[in-house]
Amino acid sequence: MFRVGTGYDFHVFVTGRPLMLGGVEIPYDRGLLGHSDADVVLHAITDALLGALALGDIGEHFPDDDPKYKGADSTLLLTEAYGLVRDRGYRIVNLDLNILAEKPKLKPYKPQIAKKIATLLETDNVSVKAKTREGKGAVGRSEAIEVHCVVLLQSEQPQNSAKA
Ligand code: MG
Repeated sequence: MFRVGTGYDFHVFVTGRPLMLGGVEIPYDRGLLGHSDADVVLHAITDALLGALALGDIGEHFPDDDPKYKGADSTLLLTEAYGLVRDRGYRIVNLDLNILAEKPKLKPYKPQIAKKIATLLETDNVSVKAKTREGKGAVGRSEAIEVHCVVLLQSEQPQNSAKA
């Protein structure tokens, strides 16, 4: 049994915060605004994992008005969502990401981001792609970062176990 999930997130830049992308701190003069550490990459992945198993969305699991998640390390949110995946007997087949950002240029950081996500999710099959918005819209004006994620899960249960 395979299940596919999609995730999306969008955060705007502010001054005075570190820029966290995929659990990696990226050198830049601004960070992203959010209740947690605003790691837009990990939020999109968390939503994709939840979506693949129809378990709701990140806002239901980790409410942004809950003081518990103020400044939260998003690797912990992702790890909790991945725990739900494992509890249900699924593993990750592969994960593909598009990070849309005009600035900073992310090419040098893609391998580090992929490695961090791969470690968190116990898989070697992580793809990180970086794109721009060709100067248009909020992302194009370097006001925000947008992320899209697709993840494929496979059940570790034998396919014919119900018929045995
Ligand atoms: Mg978010």
